[in-house]
Amino acid sequence: MKISIKDITSLADQSKKFTGVCDIQEFSYLGSEFSINHVEPFDVVLSMIGSGKLHITFSTEAEVSGACDRCLAPVSFVVPVSVDETVEVSEGQVVSDEEEGPYSFVDGEDIDVDELILNEILVNFPAKILCQDDCKGICPVCGKNRNTESCDCDDTVLDPRMAQFLDVFNSFKEVK
Ligand SMILES: [Zn+2]
Ligand SMILES: [Zn+2]
Repeated sequence: MKISIKDITSLADQSKKFTGVCDIQEFSYLGSEFSINHVEPFDVVLSMIGSGKLHITFSTEAEVSGACDRCLAPVSFVVPVSVDETVEVSEGQVVSDEEEGPYSFVDGEDIDVDELILNEILVNFPAKILCQDDCKGICPVCGKNRNTESCDCDDTVLDPRMAQFLDVFNSFKEVK
């Protein structure tokens, strides 16, 4: 969703509350596709600090699903979303950050709530997406899912250090 800041910027020291909506269903991250299944209901609060600063705040949780890094089984996980941004405003417009330039979540006179949610999801993204902590992954020799099927291939992949190596190997393959 986008929220117009037009009305609030002229109301010094006042706040407005909006019922939050997340309009993104899918995104890609590091070459993999993820979907957002559910976002807990949330309110977005826009507050003017004096007449020159706009404070944007909300928090929620997003349920995201994607594929296990090792065996590619579908996995769902919850990512916390906590937004607390203060931007400068002038004549009804957000002033770009002095160092960073325009904010990715500002679109003309609108605040792009989806962009804020996505930014937070990426900041809080789990380092590893695993169907279970000890996911045995896919056998690199015969391609069987080692969580559900056993095979007679070389067992050294069960060594956790080896599993880590395979993660690197698999992400390298994805890049190619
Ligand atoms: Zn797995
Ligand atoms: Zn095998």
